[in-house]
Amino acid sequence: MNRVLVVNSGSSSLKYAVVDADSGDTIADGIVERIGEEDGGVPDHAAALQAAFDELDDDMTGLVAVGHRVVHGGPDLYEPTLVDDAVVARIDELSPLAPLHNPPALLGIEVARRALPDLPHIAVFDTAFFHDLPPAAATYAIDRDLAAKWGIRRYGFHGTSHQYVSEQAAEFLGAPLDSLRQIVLHLGNGASASVIVGGRPVETSMGLTPMEGLVMGTRSGDLDPGIYAYLWRTAKMSVDDIESMLNRRSGMLGLGGHIDFRVVHRQIASGDAAAQLAYDVYIHRLRKYIGAYLAVLGTADVITFTAGVGENDAAVRRDALSGMTALGVELDEQLNADPRREARRISTDDSATTVLVIPTDEELAIARACVSLLTNRS
Ligand code: AMP
Repeated sequence: MNRVLVVNSGSSSLKYAVVDADSGDTIADGIVERIGEEDGGVPDHAAALQAAFDELDDDMTGLVAVGHRVVHGGPDLYEPTLVDDAVVARIDELSPLAPLHNPPALLGIEVARRALPDLPHIAVFDTAFFHDLPPAAATYAIDRDLAAKWGIRRYGFHGTSHQYVSEQAAEFLGAPLDSLRQIVLHLGNGASASVIVGGRPVETSMGLTPMEGLVMGTRSGDLDPGIYAYLWRTAKMSVDDIESMLNRRSGMLGLGGHIDFRVVHRQIASGDAAAQLAYDVYIHRLRKYIGAYLAVLGTADVITFTAGVGENDAAVRRDALSGMTALGVELDEQLNADPRREARRISTDDSATTVLVIPTDEELAIARACVSLLTNRS
């Protein structure tokens, strides 16, 4: 039995799961929220981890490793990596590339290493899958010397999910992964799209940081970079304030006041014009990406929706793909409306491109990456 504790440590929350990497079963999982908040929350990440341990109790027995989700691995950290002091120092150095994500991940790693010193701790990077993006997709059209000096390229994120879901899609279709031309739409609070050909990533919507691309719960996605300079120079906002606004108070929240699509639909039904515009902007951006990615591919064998919105919101899926019959994409309204929480096809039999809904499981993918590292080492 290969049980792995998977830790996903954010700035104010710590998600955890004990996963059996062999069977794929989640033995137990949970989330400790409001870390560092004055009333009711736990004081710090060490206390959050302790709360997780208390909750897990007997489920902690028989662990073979602790897997840590780390958002940014920079140019050289991308394989699942056994954490030692040097790796911790390197992730710390990379913090400017992911200032909102890497510091809390490091806190999680440090408290978990102290609490479970006898287990191997393994960092699994969100950027890993996209490390080999073709140069034409990874390169920003800016001064090449500057880009090289500062490691500026499109890194891509949610890689664990894009890889897992594309493999699941092949399995569902009973087709070899290396024969498939895929588009994966990971639509959760964070959102990203990717093109995967023969199991290898060819394009993705997130960039140097997890801010580029689709409209997200609280992140803007694509922007004219001129907005940064304008807000700094004319609105006199600091760089930190601009970054925080674009990360935490933009996207669906900034436009309509809510990040949860269930609430957004209720607001729209009650005639809320801001919620309607937020939804329209979200869908418009998503359609632009789908169109661009169909053009990158020529023909797509499969488009897969995943994550909280992608798995659950039939209206988003319908509006993202409506009117694309001429492009070879046709949803079956009835299949699309089916709320089952399992891998399923939602396109018509005639649709040249198969459209799927596949639940993502980043924790299982991280657990499997850990076990495969340990197996290859021994
Ligand atoms: P994730 O980041 O993948 O956990 O996705 C979280 C988001 O999924 C939430 O903020 C909601 O917007 C969305 N979501 C979850 N459940 C539903 C649902 N039943 N219908 C529509 N959206 C949902």
